[in-house]
Amino acid sequence: MFDTTFQVLYLIGLVAGSVIRGVYTRRSRQNGIADDRTPRLEWLTLTFASMGLLVIPLLYLFTPWLDFADFDFPTWAGWVGAAVFAAALLLLWRSHADLGRNWSATLQIREGHSLVTRGVFRHIRHPMYAAHGLWGIAQALLLHNWIAGPAFLATLLPMYLLRVQPEERMMLEHFGEEYRSYMNRTGRVIPRLWRSFTVPR
Ligand code: SAH
Repeated sequence: MFDTTFQVLYLIGLVAGSVIRGVYTRRSRQNGIADDRTPRLEWLTLTFASMGLLVIPLLYLFTPWLDFADFDFPTWAGWVGAAVFAAALLLLWRSHADLGRNWSATLQIREGHSLVTRGVFRHIRHPMYAAHGLWGIAQALLLHNWIAGPAFLATLLPMYLLRVQPEERMMLEHFGEEYRSYMNRTGRVIPRLWRSFTVPR
């Protein structure tokens, strides 16, 4: 019954997320690249993830092609999806704000790169990837279609799995003990709350 409302909320979130990304992409371009570790299959995993993030949902919303996979979802699940989307956007914005000009869309060390361990990076090492995961969950709860709903969660997973270990290896090479001790007191995407409160920074 509220399907259209949830679809509109999804579109508003998509636009808000794109604006956040656009603003910080422009800012971080001002710092040059000191070390480029872009994984060989990155273009493939990024293209795959963009299909789930953008292409499939837009096809679903603006063509009848995926309508055969529609299903009914309880209304409360849609409202939960809207709340999760808001949390995802907040986390995306804060992780961009905290990373500042150190951000790259891929694995790169920028000139003058500094290790960020404060803000949303205080408890988890990958808040931006956590925001993507929340976005994927929100999409699944807002778009009541077996293909478009879970599309981002499914297509995000290979990118995350191929990237997270090389990224941590790169950070360890550049920041050594500082990153190792940061790893010891944080979780990847789920906070290790007790240790981050007890281990001194
Ligand atoms: N994995 C992080 C950042 C994603 S953006 C997250 O999910 O929030 C990827 C780039 O961020 C990498 O190329 C790396 O150079 C940079 N990066 C990752 N963690 C960082 C940190 N704690 N401090 C500074 N830069 C970081």
